[in-house]
Amino acid sequence: MRKIIPIAVDPESLSSEEKCGYCTNTTCCTYITQELDTPRSMEDFDTLLWQISHENVQAYKDEGDWYLLVNNRCRHILGDGRCGIYDVRPQICREHSNEDCEFNTPASDDDFDLYFPDYESLDAYCRKRFKSWDRRWDRFAKAAG
Ligand code: SF4
Ligand code: SF4
Repeated sequence: MRKIIPIAVDPESLSSEEKCGYCTNTTCCTYITQELDTPRSMEDFDTLLWQISHENVQAYKDEGDWYLLVNNRCRHILGDGRCGIYDVRPQICREHSNEDCEFNTPASDDDFDLYFPDYESLDAYCRKRFKSWDRRWDRFAKAAG
């Protein structure tokens, strides 16, 4: 990230050196993702439902893989959008490319195979996927003996 220059500009017209300086939202520093083991069982989805019940936590499936999406800003973003620990920023930040990044194309539901923005959307999916979703606790209790 560089110093923010608050002028509306077409990202496609900027070089990669210029681009971050015009990016007012610094979107790439406002969330993390974590790949999940593919959820298959009711137990797996029940756990995912617990995770997504927490504020700012969402889930999605992309190219067959499942991820948690945690929408929290990095605490090192400075007021002008620069990175407060630029010289010692983590490797994953160093490897992030600004070619065709979120400044060019903000993420949307259409980017994913499946997208669960909240508890309700995942719960609805589970109801369709598992006929006995509302009786899952009985099954968990039986399985536990
Ligand atoms: S979203 Fe793209 S342009 Fe904006 S700061 Fe991140 S890498 Fe740079
Ligand atoms: S450490 Fe710096 S570059 Fe990395 S996410 Fe935070 S603000 Fe962005």
